Amino acid sequence: MPKEKKNVWEMTLERLDATMDALSIKPGMQKYLRQPRKTTEVSVPIKTDAGTIEIFKGYRVHHNTNRGPAKGGVRYHPDVTLDEIKALAMLMTWKCSLVGLPFGGAKGGVVADPTKLSANELEHITRRYTFEIIDMIGPEKDIPAPDVGTNAQVMAWILDTYSMDKGHAVPGVVTGKPISLGGSQGREDATSRGCVYCILSTLKVMGIDSTDMDVAVQGFGNVGGNAAKILHDLGFKIIAISDVSGCLYNKGGLDPFDIDAHLKKEKTLAGYKEAEILNREDIFSLKCDILLPAALENQITEANAASIKARIVAEGANAPTTPDADAILKENKIFVIPDVLANAGGVTVSYFEWVQGNLSYFWTKREVNLKLRDIMEKAFYETYKFSLENKVDMRQAASMLAVSRVAEATGLRGIYP
Ligand code: GLU
Repeated sequence: MPKEKKNVWEMTLERLDATMDALSIKPGMQKYLRQPRKTTEVSVPIKTDAGTIEIFKGYRVHHNTNRGPAKGGVRYHPDVTLDEIKALAMLMTWKCSLVGLPFGGAKGGVVADPTKLSANELEHITRRYTFEIIDMIGPEKDIPAPDVGTNAQVMAWILDTYSMDKGHAVPGVVTGKPISLGGSQGREDATSRGCVYCILSTLKVMGIDSTDMDVAVQGFGNVGGNAAKILHDLGFKIIAISDVSGCLYNKGGLDPFDIDAHLKKEKTLAGYKEAEILNREDIFSLKCDILLPAALENQITEANAASIKARIVAEGANAPTTPDADAILKENKIFVIPDVLANAGGVTVSYFEWVQGNLSYFWTKREVNLKLRDIMEKAFYETYKFSLENKVDMRQAASMLAVSRVAEATGLRGIYP
């Protein structure tokens, strides 16, 4: 009988259970850590450009807030579900804990396809969604940020709606906002840069002293696009890039800047002349040294994991690999840099943005990037050391470190009242 397909929430819980058992966490604490603290579902009505009324569904979830205010992005995507947002909120808790940020985990989402909406409609969705969750968010409560399908402009609308409601400017309510509204230098490409620092640290522990390596990047949004550019600038060869429209392949190397220019004009990778066009699934079976999944969750599955030939998988996306696929990658001795580590650069610079805003003292891009590198390298080597000492893979090491810290904080605070 074919195995029943689990969704990302069930898979996230499965991984958490294994981690908590490995840490011998008591049953009561296990129950506590499995549950989100707060889950909100809202209706988001707007009047469209055509004058009709449309209703969108929105969510905001706080997972655990014992280490600090809830932190996490807002996703606009047609496939958003409550279970997905719950899983991503939980991953934010572990991510912030792993890299040592004083935040808990949150996530939000609206079931909408931003590519099919006008700027005016997106603004109305954003403002009404913000209004509906306004009691949940705030600089000391829960700080939203960009995620799939949202950007600095969406953050500016959240900031404005929240500020109008409070009667004064509250720039600290979001991170990933435009620089002119108090955003941080380096936030835009921070997730990608953090991922690249993890790749460089991996090469170091593997004893590889060269960037002469072939890279395949799945997804060409904020994370995949910027990672491809940074790696290209460092001398890595980007041999393949895929998105929903297909996969561009050139054994001799692609120029991600040129592809970006093509994408801005054509809105699709299709038609790009300097590459062979393959099916988007082919990205997983190409011969390469590094595979960087930077799209959505559940992309590396039991069905394609065995075809992966890379030595390193750096998870720029959240939850791109299913637990079944994980076992196959492990069997094939592929070094996986897990999502909570590999893509923690974004929330790290969000933290820098929050700190800079609180101090009203802003850093240069160089300062931001140096501080980001310090945090990413510290987290990488802590995880790597833990994995060697405890004979577990990097995902399990990251998970055990992160969950143990949250369990400790939760235990110390105790149960209110
Ligand atoms: N959406 C990003 C993530 O999944 C960033 C979250 C943030 O900066 O709060 O890590």
